[in-house]
Amino acid sequence: MVTKAITATTVGINAFKIEAEVDVINSLPNMSIVGLPDSAVSEAKERVRSAIKNSGFSFPTGRVIVNLAPADIRKEGTNFDLPIAIGILKEEGIEIPENEKMAFLGELSLDGSLRKINGVLPLVTGLKENGIDTVFVPYENAKEAALAEGIHVFGAKDLREIVAHFADTPIKETKVDIHKYLEENAFVDYIHDFKEVKGQQKAKKALEIAAAGGHNVLMSGSPGSGKTMMAKCMASILPPLELKEALELTKIYSISGLLTPDEPLMTKRPYRSVHHTASPNGIIGGGTNPKPGEITLAHRGVLFLDEIVEFPRQVLEVLRQPLEDGEVVISRAKTTIKYPSSFILIGAMNPCPCGYLGDKEKPCTCSEIQIKRYQSRLSGPLLDRIDLIINVPRLSTEELVNIKTESEPSARIRERVIKARRIQAERYKDDGIFTNSELTPQLLKKYCNLDKDSQEILKQAAQVYQLSGRKYNRILKIARTIADLSGAKDIKKEHITQALQYRG
Ligand SMILES: [Zn+2]
Repeated sequence: MVTKAITATTVGINAFKIEAEVDVINSLPNMSIVGLPDSAVSEAKERVRSAIKNSGFSFPTGRVIVNLAPADIRKEGTNFDLPIAIGILKEEGIEIPENEKMAFLGELSLDGSLRKINGVLPLVTGLKENGIDTVFVPYENAKEAALAEGIHVFGAKDLREIVAHFADTPIKETKVDIHKYLEENAFVDYIHDFKEVKGQQKAKKALEIAAAGGHNVLMSGSPGSGKTMMAKCMASILPPLELKEALELTKIYSISGLLTPDEPLMTKRPYRSVHHTASPNGIIGGGTNPKPGEITLAHRGVLFLDEIVEFPRQVLEVLRQPLEDGEVVISRAKTTIKYPSSFILIGAMNPCPCGYLGDKEKPCTCSEIQIKRYQSRLSGPLLDRIDLIINVPRLSTEELVNIKTESEPSARIRERVIKARRIQAERYKDDGIFTNSELTPQLLKKYCNLDKDSQEILKQAAQVYQLSGRKYNRILKIARTIADLSGAKDIKKEHITQALQYRG
């Protein structure tokens, strides 16, 4: 007799339905798993055998053959233990109904208890899309699984609980009110607040524009100018996640194993700070068992690259594609995996190797050639994807002491950002984009009409600064965001003038 249990496997952040077929034949006791399993799946043999025996059930005396179908999808991870065990228990006559709409996910310990697995949300979402209406998962994964909504989730602590569920002791269904959960957890106190940053009005405004319009930023300034601190404050002014974004982000953190059982849903936009010594795989993603890199963990949030010119050229070159397309493609031997990676890039750099070019107090010790070489490490194509370029001068002790006005708290800036985002969401609802940074040349024509005065100013600037077409468009996008922040329907002269200050 062949028994079957439904399960799933992830490819990227998507999941495919898998059938675990089990057959026992009269032969020497042995167990084999076929159907393109990776090593973690092959090791299921040992775990499943011990788990079944130690749970007090009998294990077949013949040869056990497990087939994971379809065979052309590579199976990864440890979530196949449970469906395989279920198939074997059925072979041994345990009453578990054959049900095409029921699935099982989970790793087994040798003693039969179920261990938390990675990727539950994408797995359960994939199963639901394949018509599955009931899923059994490890207890610690139950809340995360229930985020998928529209599928019955049962969290079990061990194999015995699942068998008992079908006999006489049903497991309580896990339910999560996802809208309520997101609402309750979206607003939190952030560690870093713009009210702690003295002065630097222009840089702060640039970061506000970046948050509002989804623009990339490059800050250049001496050590001690507060670049890193201001980048950290970015997290406090980003708008809350929409439900769809939260679920997408949760999938990424789920397959990366970064969710905790108590916080199953990502409710805040991520802020990821990456050091230039990190491995390219760690930044971009990939490896033998591909995992999302930092640029994917920063999806819908901020990626901060401090000392951006120190990053390996290879890494900076690879960044161009996600900055353009909002996703990264990772090639492997047989297949390619796509991970979403749409983020706001914030880069920080010193103006020169010694760091003090243009500083009011400390002299720069670099030669002209050194400075040129240093600044040219950022390639043109990468710079083309950065909308806002600003100088962040270090304030002298005297200047710092003389600043008497209180800085505006992040909460107030965030309100303006949220308003501006709403305006954009409404304006672009039929265009398939969310923010001004995504405006294509065609959409720029549609939404960035200029009156005569603004046209004249921009035309003059284009001549004086010899603006390329790309730079011209960047200024239009920034002007659009500045106008949105001030609630203006049309781009006016003052918005263009302000936008011109951020051209680098
Ligand atoms: Zn220098």
